[in-house]
Amino acid sequence: MKKLALHWQILLGMVLGVVFALIFTNLDWGAKFIGDWIKPFGTIFINALKLIAIPLILAALIKGIADLKDISSLSKMGIRTILTYIVTTVLAVSIGLMVVSVVQPGKAINEDTRNELVEAYGGEAEMKRQDALKQKDAGPLQALVDLVPENIFSAASSNRNMLQVIFFAVFFGIGLILIPEEKSKTVKDFFDGFNEVILKMVDLIMLAAPYGVFALLAALVVEAPSADLFAALAMYAFCVVLGLALMIGIYILLVKIFTKRSPGFFLNGIAPAQLLAFSTSSSAATLPVTMERVTEHLGVEEEVSSFVLPIGATINMDGTSLYQAVAAVFIAQAFGMDLSFGTQLGIIATATLASIGSAAVPGAGMVMLVGVLGYAGIPEAGLALIFAVDRPLDMCRTVVNVTGDATVSMLVAKSQGKLGEPKVKDWDDNYKKVS
Ligand code: ASP
Repeated sequence: MKKLALHWQILLGMVLGVVFALIFTNLDWGAKFIGDWIKPFGTIFINALKLIAIPLILAALIKGIADLKDISSLSKMGIRTILTYIVTTVLAVSIGLMVVSVVQPGKAINEDTRNELVEAYGGEAEMKRQDALKQKDAGPLQALVDLVPENIFSAASSNRNMLQVIFFAVFFGIGLILIPEEKSKTVKDFFDGFNEVILKMVDLIMLAAPYGVFALLAALVVEAPSADLFAALAMYAFCVVLGLALMIGIYILLVKIFTKRSPGFFLNGIAPAQLLAFSTSSSAATLPVTMERVTEHLGVEEEVSSFVLPIGATINMDGTSLYQAVAAVFIAQAFGMDLSFGTQLGIIATATLASIGSAAVPGAGMVMLVGVLGYAGIPEAGLALIFAVDRPLDMCRTVVNVTGDATVSMLVAKSQGKLGEPKVKDWDDNYKKVS
């Protein structure tokens, strides 16, 4: 029998996880059973993915930069990457603002619902606000200071420090380009082999993906808050999801226009990474799979993907910035505030910066939203309004974050003449390769 393609297997795992949890929540001991015996497998799966994120960035980036052979192609690619990332992010925020201004979901929230939400989620929202406050005390150049670690081992000991590890890897790669070939060869070969090993580990972890997402989704369903509050926020959630869907449409269009690759080719190639982004709510945890899919299935050469994707996972969050714009305006609407055109332009700028500053982990976008609210003078207590639906929306925006990174990597690869034919045409070939 022909083996089901990986994205179908993952999708099946997700659906079965939800159905399983819905059945088990009817039993007295069901939720505890899932918490004790199913959820840990989801955690193990995410941990396994996160485990290889830092070694992958190090190996892939050092190898990728060393392959570039000269500094000028690195700076050309760097500038193109950052500019394209900024353009897509600004586009995303603008779409978010447009959708939320047209649909006006905040107007549907009456005072009772508002109070109910503030009461139910005020505590959790306050915790997010405190997290944000910790980051806020910094001066204007703090982000730049944070980029340079004082110790590479302590930087590499936390997935939250990915930008620092990227800095080290780029710096190391530049050093490698600048020394004589006979000295650099051994080091390059080492990272080359190291990189291959890590990619093989990704293949192996992906064999467990359908089971991993089953466990993750079952645990999420059991822990989800009451459906009544969900209903009150349906219009808001609809706006975020509509904006995100439009953004995916834009990516498909960009890929078609600039690289002439069909939507089917693009979506088929990236689907497993999108499904994992949805299940884990973390672009960082998804990064190893995004790298594998983009390189092997979308035809982006490794020297581009290994540079563009780790940077994208940390700074390019189109889904997050779009959500922040929608959420900020929604809260303003719910509190009966009218935002001027100038404030809306400011939201574009702050949401772009906030998404760059958001860590690639679950819920990070909401912490950074505090900054956007603060800028626009919108009550931070409003965070409580959107708390109930934040997790499902986090899952959706992470899909867009990852898809945006993949899109930009294809565009940059095309502009550098580094977009070729994919090495693996479909997952089944790859599956045979590892099994
Ligand atoms: N979970 C998102 C990501 O990892 C960030 C966020 O929007 O919270 O890409």
